Amino acid sequence: MQKYNQQEVDCRRTFGIISHPDAGKTTLTEKLLLFGGAIQMAGAVKARKAARHATSDWMAMEQERGISVTSSVMKFNYRDYEVNLLDTPGHQDFSEDTYRVLTAVDSALMVIDSAKGVETQTRKLMEVCRMRNTPIITFINKLDREGLEPLDLLADIEETLQVECAPLSWPIGMGKRFKGTYNLYRKELLLFSPGKETRGSDLLRITDLSDPQLDQLLGSQAEELRHDIELLEGAANPFELEEYLKGNQTPVFFGSAINNFGVRELLDAFVELAPGPSARQTTTREVSPYEEAFSGFVFKIQANMDPMHRDRIAFMRICSGKFTRGMKMRHHRIGKDINVSNATIFMAQDRSNVEEAYPGDIIGVHNHGTIKIGDTFTDKEPLKFTGIPSFAPEHFRRVRLKNPLKVKQLEKGLVQLAEEGAVQLFRPLISSDYILGAVGVLQFDVIVSRLKNEYGVDALYEGIEYATARWIECADKKKLAEFEKKNQGSLALDAEGNLTYLASSDWRLGHVAEQWPEVKFHKTREHN
Ligand code: GDP
Repeated sequence: MQKYNQQEVDCRRTFGIISHPDAGKTTLTEKLLLFGGAIQMAGAVKARKAARHATSDWMAMEQERGISVTSSVMKFNYRDYEVNLLDTPGHQDFSEDTYRVLTAVDSALMVIDSAKGVETQTRKLMEVCRMRNTPIITFINKLDREGLEPLDLLADIEETLQVECAPLSWPIGMGKRFKGTYNLYRKELLLFSPGKETRGSDLLRITDLSDPQLDQLLGSQAEELRHDIELLEGAANPFELEEYLKGNQTPVFFGSAINNFGVRELLDAFVELAPGPSARQTTTREVSPYEEAFSGFVFKIQANMDPMHRDRIAFMRICSGKFTRGMKMRHHRIGKDINVSNATIFMAQDRSNVEEAYPGDIIGVHNHGTIKIGDTFTDKEPLKFTGIPSFAPEHFRRVRLKNPLKVKQLEKGLVQLAEEGAVQLFRPLISSDYILGAVGVLQFDVIVSRLKNEYGVDALYEGIEYATARWIECADKKKLAEFEKKNQGSLALDAEGNLTYLASSDWRLGHVAEQWPEVKFHKTREHN
């Protein structure tokens, strides 16, 4: 039987890039957009990042927000595929959104700096990918510079990230001796010419590595390559599509994004191997992307920073059916039908007036604060998608009001901002403090400024000695009461009233968890 939307679903690839700052995400994004024909945007990616670095004052942030709304989803066509690249903000913009974006993708690209190996932010983002077993393709970047030995890099990835590596290309030298890569499954040699952007014209098919042509081209490095490949055949894992799709194995490519080297090879493999829109779990059943009825969930909310226009854009990932402008959909949490005429459909550069969107696509729905993170929208069936949680904050501030009469406004503002996912709010059990929690520190700047502008709240934000938080669950009510009594000073309720343990250090958390084996300490929490 023909599945509804089959072609539209199968040609879509929705992904995010996970990397540590400076590994080359921006550079790679530009090159990908270049291949996708969205050339005019390539400069914009860099410009936006420069603006971010240069200043953090409010006006600039506001402008930047305006830009970042439109570049949160970068859509391009490549071959017969429609690719949605969702931005995973890094640097100072690192926030809970960065994590949450990864709940809306079907796969990810991991960029690693060949001189640095796996770094902290990559490790954190990988943890989020693990939650849904998101398939990951790895790009080891900056081979034009001296870096770690390729085999050591693979060992580092395997050990630190607990994922099997299957190299699909192999570098020939590095730094000054970098000659190119050998594609192990296509049996093609890709030659590197320094300072020259490669677009795939320097490909040579060399199926037999004993071919003397190899010695002419690579000199003494031909023998090194032969030796490496021989070693790999014995030591490396052969690529298995199934294992990659389950998130157990990552195919690895080597290249240099800035020289546009190895990028087309990566993109070709990506569209061919990466999964299209996958089925999604709800509280009641799994939803297939091929179902005719429309469904989608909200994973990100972006507020308009212009005080004159207090609207918000909810980013909705379509999971099934087809979106048409003006269609009615049901907003299940509040039990109302909404007419979506004023949506931003993130579309390819070369197509104007697109009025439809399909599973894997992202649409931006304008609203005035009625939509929350995790909200599900469908034709009519009452569904609730799962897997769009809150993530344990790692930065905390205590809010002190300058004018105590403003406490109502403060509370209203904080609850609303918590619902948008802009910050997390905790109320300690034994004090009347307001404690804010965030994954990235810049989130606090946004909150301070929005509380002031939108709610007229002037407050002080004090640093507070917490390292992390965990949501508490315990089936044994008696044990839970005992735990609460003994740990009162470290317990708080979040904005939705869930019991949370605020830990002063990871060590402390580990210690308490060990003492209370019946209590579960969750790192994420699903929205109600
Ligand atoms: P991001 O922070 O991950 O977005 O990283 P960028 O794309 O901004 O790159 C960080 C720095 O690394 C910049 O100075 C880039 O020019 C540089 N860079 C990116 N790719 C390469 C590469 O392949 N080789 C070298 N040598 N430098 C690179």
